[in-house]
Amino acid sequence: MFLKNEEAFEIVREFGSPVYVYSEDILRQRCRELIDAFDGRLSPSFSIKANSNISLLNIIREEGIGADAMSHGEIFVLEHAGFSSDEIFYIGNNVSADELRYCIDRGILVSADSLSQLESLGRINRGGRVALRFNPGIGAGHCEKVVTAGHKTKFGIDPRFCAQAKELLSKYDMKLVGINQHIGSLFLEPAPYVEAAENLLEMVLDNFPGLDFVDFGGGFGVPYRPDEPRLDFGKLREMLFPVLDSFMERYDNKYVHFKCEPGRYLVAECGLLLGTVHAVKENYGEAYVGTDIGFNVLMRPVLYDSYHEVKLLRNSDETRKGAGEKALPATIVGNICESGDILAAKRLLGDARENDIIAVENAGAYGYSMASNYNCRLRPAEVLKTAQGEVKLIRAADTLESLIENF
Ligand SMILES: *Cc1c(COP(=O)(O)O)cnc(C)c1O
Repeated sequence: MFLKNEEAFEIVREFGSPVYVYSEDILRQRCRELIDAFDGRLSPSFSIKANSNISLLNIIREEGIGADAMSHGEIFVLEHAGFSSDEIFYIGNNVSADELRYCIDRGILVSADSLSQLESLGRINRGGRVALRFNPGIGAGHCEKVVTAGHKTKFGIDPRFCAQAKELLSKYDMKLVGINQHIGSLFLEPAPYVEAAENLLEMVLDNFPGLDFVDFGGGFGVPYRPDEPRLDFGKLREMLFPVLDSFMERYDNKYVHFKCEPGRYLVAECGLLLGTVHAVKENYGEAYVGTDIGFNVLMRPVLYDSYHEVKLLRNSDETRKGAGEKALPATIVGNICESGDILAAKRLLGDARENDIIAVENAGAYGYSMASNYNCRLRPAEVLKTAQGEVKLIRAADTLESLIENF
């Protein structure tokens, strides 16, 4: 919690509820930590699907980190945040020729996720530069939905089709400059990442001389539960660097550089989601705390069964002085008309009342970026607590008019 109680209430009074609040200090700290963690041997590119707020992207760019885009919309946003085309790497999957052309017209390097997409790119950009995303056959992640490599996912090219990929490259006279992969999201142990990196490098040695870069993907986890350990970058480095050394000894291009694609790691912990308690009730023996944090605002718990720490911030109403602590577990729910609209099940919050604030921790990644207008709910505002301690609006909340502007 980087906000004091009074600050949280003030932010809700000024910017409405719910509201996403970000800490510039924590964001910068995470960026620096990740750069340092790899001693400059792996350069990070931020995967902006985790959070595409332009003010945060500006900070990340200032910290010297590049960006990965997965859609032409993300490219558009990145350009607005001041990223140049050589700082953007496009990793699409199953996208139209028009979208590929959008990238090519801007001089943005594209990674092809399948032979179909490579062929499509070849037709548009004969003689151009290209990267290929491979599926190393090893996945990792906190739940099945976020495992993005291995035998059961749609992503990447199966290394069995290396020969066909090479044929297409020569058919369209394309220069292969890089190979990338992404094994999944949110791992806290380094082993699968290193093992997948090793697999990828062996494949590169066997098949692809002369590359400019090899990109091992993102997925670095953050601890969401209080008892979870942090990912040990020291250990990751200790395991990964010998693998890189051994590759370098055997590879023809000594200038090849290594990349990674953190999303969550940079932004999860700098974000706090504040919402308001509007109702408390008991239904057939279960206690519910009803808030304005529906799954349209934060989808992770519903989509992935994810855990977020929640804190109860009491409003300082005089009648609450000395309010007793009820140590009964309560389920914190939102205002969406679905019974699955559960933010956190059976938590010991203490005595929650109307007008208290619920603070959801580690909400900076895949929070706002997955928010929607389901139930015609308005997406909340986003505010930044700057390094100087000032709180400023960095994205306005939706308005009722924004719900009908496309009709
Ligand atoms: C989502 C994604 C990432 C980032 O994943 P995190 O778990 O947020 O680090 C990186 N690379 C690709 C290709 C992705 O799809």
